[in-house]
Amino acid sequence: MKQKKILLDENEMPTQWYNVMPDIPNGIDPPLDPETKQPMGPEKLAAVFPMGLLEQEMSDKSWIDIPEEVQEIYHIWRPTPLVRAYALEAALGTKAKIYYKNEGVSPSGSHKTNSSVAQAYYNKREGVKRLSTETGAGQWGSALAFATHKFGLECKVYMVRVSFDQKPYRKIMMNTFGADIVASPSPDTAFGRKILEDMPGTAGSLGIAISEALEDAATRDDTKYALGSVLNHVILHQSIIGLESKKQMAKIGAYPDVVIGCCGGGSNYAGMMTPFLTDKLEGKKIRFVGVEPASCPTLTRGVYAYDYGDVARQTPLLYMYTLGHDFIPPGIHAGGLRYHGMSPIVSALVREKLIEPISVHQLECFEAGRLFAQTEGIIPAPETCHAIRAAIIEATRDLNDPQTILFNFSGHGLLDLSSYEKYYAGELHNYDYPAEAIAAATKNLPKI
Ligand SMILES: *Cc1c(COP(=O)(O)O)cnc(C)c1O
Repeated sequence: MKQKKILLDENEMPTQWYNVMPDIPNGIDPPLDPETKQPMGPEKLAAVFPMGLLEQEMSDKSWIDIPEEVQEIYHIWRPTPLVRAYALEAALGTKAKIYYKNEGVSPSGSHKTNSSVAQAYYNKREGVKRLSTETGAGQWGSALAFATHKFGLECKVYMVRVSFDQKPYRKIMMNTFGADIVASPSPDTAFGRKILEDMPGTAGSLGIAISEALEDAATRDDTKYALGSVLNHVILHQSIIGLESKKQMAKIGAYPDVVIGCCGGGSNYAGMMTPFLTDKLEGKKIRFVGVEPASCPTLTRGVYAYDYGDVARQTPLLYMYTLGHDFIPPGIHAGGLRYHGMSPIVSALVREKLIEPISVHQLECFEAGRLFAQTEGIIPAPETCHAIRAAIIEATRDLNDPQTILFNFSGHGLLDLSSYEKYYAGELHNYDYPAEAIAAATKNLPKI
């Protein structure tokens, strides 16, 4: 019989996260203070993040223990299945072996709970009572809502106005987990009130929501801020994806020739590929392919420079690939892939030519997602469709190449069905971000 699912027992779940920082050739550049443009120490960041997470953000230790309280909650859905996509392979007529790691089985339906649970734990341990955050498509908000409830913390979510109106089910999910959620811009912060006055009826943006959540945390003693991607500590928590995958492949004597994932802020992909990185550095033949939308081509067409994480220029400056902090994402449906920047870790691995970045168009992604649903039986999130599309490109380049492909299935799309509806109705179009717009947005990068 063909073995489709490769499962781990609960006691085989990794008990340490892997920190890639010490293994990145030539390292990564430190975050800079947005005012002084000097390297930023932990003191200033401590206003919005707990020390436990700041230590991880700057850690040079390769392995960090996963606290038992976090492991216990991980066990609700972890270890996640690694699945051989036999039916997809057959539909493609390829000799390639395609494996996917299913992170869609988590409580909120994506990989984001791997970090939200850890973040809630370290905040709780340091006496924080309440977390504030922003959410675009709603996936991070739901993940944090679940995790804060588990640790008895309050949670305030600033959700970009347009998603708040278009994705009512994400809102209900967050309410179910007990979070307080408001459309951004909101009357609850000074920055939100100013935007509402200057731009009544605005659809909002992730940048505005970040600014509101940061203001909330900075102005209340009981509250800290939580970010769902980009930062080093988030990627540390996501390393459990790759660590489990490696164990699962070893169980059947397999090893990937290529590891694929979609890149928004970079967390699910880095979490998948970094545990395989040292093998490559030691000479093993393995490729890493990171996929982004052609409409938000941060890694393939952006510049590598210091930039702000938000439009209000409040965040530290990060050295990363960026389309410029005032990049306006077009309304494509992969909401989680519309960030102007990219995690410094993924950026440095692209700089070192260890990750090959590629971009794909949204129509071919939805087509890939539909084929995946019809063959494997799971409807993927629009972000995840990008990884599937890239896996199909690899598997069909030479149908006789028996290579082993591993990709991260970052989340299911059951709360994104309205995007599929638009796709079937022919309302979605391909869009290449214009070169002039990239040139204009990257002209306003901070001068260092
Ligand atoms: C948020 C999200 C992404 C993109 O974020 P990364 O930090 O790049 O992982 C991808 N897929 C899903 C399902 C998401 O929810």
